[in-house]
Amino acid sequence: MKPDLDAALADLVAANRILAQHGIVDGYGHVSLRAPHKPDHYLLSRAIAPETVTADDIVEFDLDSQPTRRTPELYLERFIHGEIYRVRPEVRAVVHNHAPSLIPFGVAATPLRPVYHMAAFVGQGIPIFEIRDTAGEATDLLIRSPALGRALATSLGDKPAALMRGHGATVVADSLALVVARSIYLELNAKLQLQALTLAGPDGEVRYLSPDEAAAASITLGDYRRSWQLWRATALTEVSTVRS
Ligand code: MN
Repeated sequence: MKPDLDAALADLVAANRILAQHGIVDGYGHVSLRAPHKPDHYLLSRAIAPETVTADDIVEFDLDSQPTRRTPELYLERFIHGEIYRVRPEVRAVVHNHAPSLIPFGVAATPLRPVYHMAAFVGQGIPIFEIRDTAGEATDLLIRSPALGRALATSLGDKPAALMRGHGATVVADSLALVVARSIYLELNAKLQLQALTLAGPDGEVRYLSPDEAAAASITLGDYRRSWQLWRATALTEVSTVRS
């Protein structure tokens, strides 16, 4: 493999483990990276639990989400990745998860809003994907087809994440570092928002970040480089400890 591809694979393995270690994915959920050597392809593990992913498990897919080598077990919902990469050329990494704290905000009328600066990107707006609008009630909620992937990508629009009603969320960014951080802080924001709403009570006020504050804090955080370096080092250290 080329050196840049080897580095990308190592980062993608780390991303899988970081998301698992933070409870953003469990046995299910996945993270992909646009292929650095071929932008109309992407890299995604075969269908195994993210915490167990190694570089050998990672498969290259085209934007129709067809694998470039024969692979027996593929994630059913890989179309999430292909269809988003197709319509969002600046997106370089995608996470799909079922993080529990996000679920209430996908089913209740209260929208997610930015509670603290670490999740300032929430201020860009987090749409909710309603699968019934595309496929009625005859689904198991999974994005099992290119058509459902396209519908999700349309719902996502130009935003950093979309909640999926009764299912989970999909998060995007222009780097693995940023998509991992957004996934972690999106869930933390949901927890904190629910706490703030509970503490305030039905008539109390919750003061969210203003649009200007959210925009400024997003610029300051950038791609959360310091968090990524810490998480990546911890994830890979724990791997080598487990294997030695
Ligand atoms: Mn799912």
